[in-house]
Amino acid sequence: MSKKYQIIGLLFLVGLTVTCASSGYNKGQFNLYSIDDEKRMGKEFADQLLSEYRKRGRVYDDPQTNQYINNLGQYLASKSPENKFDYHFYVLKLKGVNAFAVPGGYVFVFTGLINYSQNEAELAGVMAHEIGHIVSRHGTEQMSAQLAASVASSILVAGVALGGGNANLAQLALNVASTGTFLSYSRKDESEADGIGAKTLYHAGYHPEGMVNFFDRLSKKVGDMSDLEVWLSTHPDPGDREKHIKDIIKEEGSTEGLKWDSKEFKAVKGKVSRIKYPNQGKNKKTK
Ligand SMILES: [Zn+2]
Repeated sequence: MSKKYQIIGLLFLVGLTVTCASSGYNKGQFNLYSIDDEKRMGKEFADQLLSEYRKRGRVYDDPQTNQYINNLGQYLASKSPENKFDYHFYVLKLKGVNAFAVPGGYVFVFTGLINYSQNEAELAGVMAHEIGHIVSRHGTEQMSAQLAASVASSILVAGVALGGGNANLAQLALNVASTGTFLSYSRKDESEADGIGAKTLYHAGYHPEGMVNFFDRLSKKVGDMSDLEVWLSTHPDPGDREKHIKDIIKEEGSTEGLKWDSKEFKAVKGKVSRIKYPNQGKNKKTK
């Protein structure tokens, strides 16, 4: 996402209550937003995003797929280390191999991701990784850091003077909908989300190697590059990513008897694989 839109996003958030995470998973992390701020802001932004995607005909309304993704997502969220948020899962009819998390408990899954996953453990691995970003509050942490860095800048002052919080939010939603990317996180955040994801996956009874296999195929760029591009553009590929996940698997214990797949996944994947995608136009990072 371009700097400009990140700043617009931040402008919208100026004026929210200033608080610090004082307890729980993110204890000690610098975060200007309270859990309630994050829930409220997340809902508003997720609603805007949905309406943008709906305008573009990209919301995948198939009841079977939505129910499946919601059941899987809620189950995974219930096995994540902390549950500060209510979770909401949405399916977007987009060919790119991607999913993203909006702070406050909103996860968007692309049909392209379902289609690229070879089994349920792989899909669950990516969803658990996105849940990891939410649990860790990476979105509002990043926004807080950027806000602190830019608070004295004239851009911010000028932006505040222009006002129009909702207009800015709508612009941000439009930008996300047209590029297919939300925030890019640091390697440290990605690694933390991998760690939480792998543990969540394990405790949900899935083989965490599903996550390893998925990232392995991505890093080897197996598949149509234009479909992989969105994920790769927002997820730098740390060399030790797979090793990190494998280390966590070792720590957690035996992987015997863990689940790889389900007939529900196969049915949904079969359906999704038959989607005819309209011309998506450019679905690239704007930078
Ligand atoms: Zn990530």
